[in-house]
Amino acid sequence: MLKNLAFSGVTNIEIIDLDTIDVSNLNRQFLFRPEHVGQSKALVAANVSLRFNPELTIQAYHDNIKNSKYSVAYFSTFSVVLNALDNVDARRHVNRMCLAANVPLIDSGTTGYLGQVTPIIKGWTACYECHPKPVQKVYPICTIRSTPDKPVHCIVWAKECFKLLFNNPKDSMLFEDENTEASAYMSFLPLKTRFAKIQEKLAYFTSFLFGVFHLDIQKRIDMDVYKTAKTLPVPLDRGLLEEVMGTVLQRVGEGYGDGHTHIHAHTLPPSPQTSQPDWEHSVWGIKENILELVYALLELPPNGGEGEEGGYVCVWICVWICVWIWCMLYGLLHAWCICSILLVRGV
Ligand SMILES: [Zn+2]
Repeated sequence: MLKNLAFSGVTNIEIIDLDTIDVSNLNRQFLFRPEHVGQSKALVAANVSLRFNPELTIQAYHDNIKNSKYSVAYFSTFSVVLNALDNVDARRHVNRMCLAANVPLIDSGTTGYLGQVTPIIKGWTACYECHPKPVQKVYPICTIRSTPDKPVHCIVWAKECFKLLFNNPKDSMLFEDENTEASAYMSFLPLKTRFAKIQEKLAYFTSFLFGVFHLDIQKRIDMDVYKTAKTLPVPLDRGLLEEVMGTVLQRVGEGYGDGHTHIHAHTLPPSPQTSQPDWEHSVWGIKENILELVYALLELPPNGGEGEEGGYVCVWICVWICVWIWCMLYGLLHAWCICSILLVRGV
């Protein structure tokens, strides 16, 4: 949009965007190059546009449009406002600000292969909120992968993980090409479930979980993805992960020792927390969740669930627990009660 404005002779522009450039943004636009990954979208777009049209006066802000400093008075300084937003909440906000400031708004967006453009002019056209919107079911990939701020984002993330690990990886939004700087989880495809020794299996899951819950989050923190976020996500602590693995090895090793390629769910001793009385009503923090996830991973049948009794249930539990861990690391949830997983078990 900015490129088109620059080429069509618009000379006085202000742009506001709180996002930073992700590798996944590079394939469908003309402004960003691989060396820009991690930088502010607004600032890079402004600089690059100046090369298209040096006459341009352009002011860029790496900021949230909902920041109160963009007041009605600020909006009323413009002849027209153009929305290129990825969420309903921000669109509603800009719609209201433009109505209050009596400035024409052009709202645009895409979903899949479809695009739409809607002019919104006070007193002439319907506004963005005149008609109720269907509940959002599709979420932008950058929100899912990097900046979840609702538990539903974490559920979608886990569903995509499920496709990645247990269905066709290329159908998952999380799938990345090998030639890009891939996320840590990509090196674990397909997920290995067959090992000669329990120690090897635990070591493998340690590096897998460390990759997903620490390295990939830390990488985005280093890229300054969360510059404008209220709270930073907390990558999973390596010490805690190793402590959990130690507990599991001690407990599972008691009955099993080495040499088992696959542990059957019905012969696996219960985890320390599920062997407690009234464990269904206990509240789990991050450590309890990791412990239970490792138990569920141990139960994974060698073929990833197909044909094996209890296989799908166990895969489902892995995905479900991943949701809560992801929610916790992103500060969306601090603890949860095991009752909700029993509903899943009961299905
Ligand atoms: Zn309206």
